[in-house]
Amino acid sequence: PIQGSTGGEEKILVSVRLRPLNEKETARNDASDWECINDNTLIYRNNLSVAESSMYPTVYTFGVRRRSKEVALSVVNGINSSIFAYGQTSSGKTYTMGGITEYTVADIYDYINKHKKREFILKFSAMEIYNESVRDLLSMDTTPLRLLDDPERGTIVERLTEETLRDWNHFKELLSICEAQRQIGETSMNETSSRSHQILRLTIESSALEYLGNDKSSTLAATVNFVDLAGSERASQSLSAGMRLKEGCHINRSLLTLGTVIRKLSKGRNGHVPFRDSKLTRILQSSLGGNARTAIICTISPARTHVEQSRNTLLFASCAK
Ligand code: ADP
Ligand code: MG
Repeated sequence: PIQGSTGGEEKILVSVRLRPLNEKETARNDASDWECINDNTLIYRNNLSVAESSMYPTVYTFGVRRRSKEVALSVVNGINSSIFAYGQTSSGKTYTMGGITEYTVADIYDYINKHKKREFILKFSAMEIYNESVRDLLSMDTTPLRLLDDPERGTIVERLTEETLRDWNHFKELLSICEAQRQIGETSMNETSSRSHQILRLTIESSALEYLGNDKSSTLAATVNFVDLAGSERASQSLSAGMRLKEGCHINRSLLTLGTVIRKLSKGRNGHVPFRDSKLTRILQSSLGGNARTAIICTISPARTHVEQSRNTLLFASCAK
């Protein structure tokens, strides 16, 4: 077994979350061979063949929520960040991202209440990428949004709705609009949620209410992106299907490119990083790499029937480290 590194201020924080068996799985007598044996070791123990047992080192299996929240909260100090949920469909991505998003925003409000000497403005927007087409989740208009290049601000999503948050309740209202919009898409296109990426984006601007003799921190602006990715089975399917890349890859261009970008970033700064190869990585470019902080939560299903996909996800996790 290889041991994952712990501690330190890593640019890319990778963690694994193993959900419990669900009722359906229990009902069909599915079993779990996975076990978290300590804070950063996950073990696969197949009773039938001891030789098959493997230790999966990586990465944090506990404290997923706390560590990811830490990354997201760096936004109040003017640092951009992106938090991703990666894993096969039904492994717990939406469940995990939903929790992290809400807890982070609650913490941001808490922070704001404790820092009365600054004024904070929170702006919220939401989009979905399906088949390399970007849709506004806060608007009834379903026309695909174009991406524009701005020399100062980088890639901009044209006409994307941006709501200034009044308070926590307003935030919850907007979340339910996104949820409803996402489901409208779902009835018109099969299985959208497993094939689409959702980005919830929060921008925080803050300025000191009185001059403190320190220009640097007098105004700050940063963005945090909460990204619920398409099911990773799509990526592995289209890869294994080899040459049927055209259709497969169209569905997954964003997921495949994200994988490449993450691997390149985790190896250091040298070389070309293909941000521009997909909509997702273009939109997130200023919140990936550089000084930005990134957290990836790899969600896995404990079910024996999902072991192949779980291993693919853990492979992704170790490459992202
Ligand atoms: P995905 O978004 O990856 O397709 P979901 O987040 O929708 O998966 O999760 C699938 C099901 O499993 C949902 O019913 C969800 O409530 C449940 N679930 C996911 N993660 C957990 C968890 N950590 N604990 C308990 N239930 C979970
Ligand atoms: Mg989901």
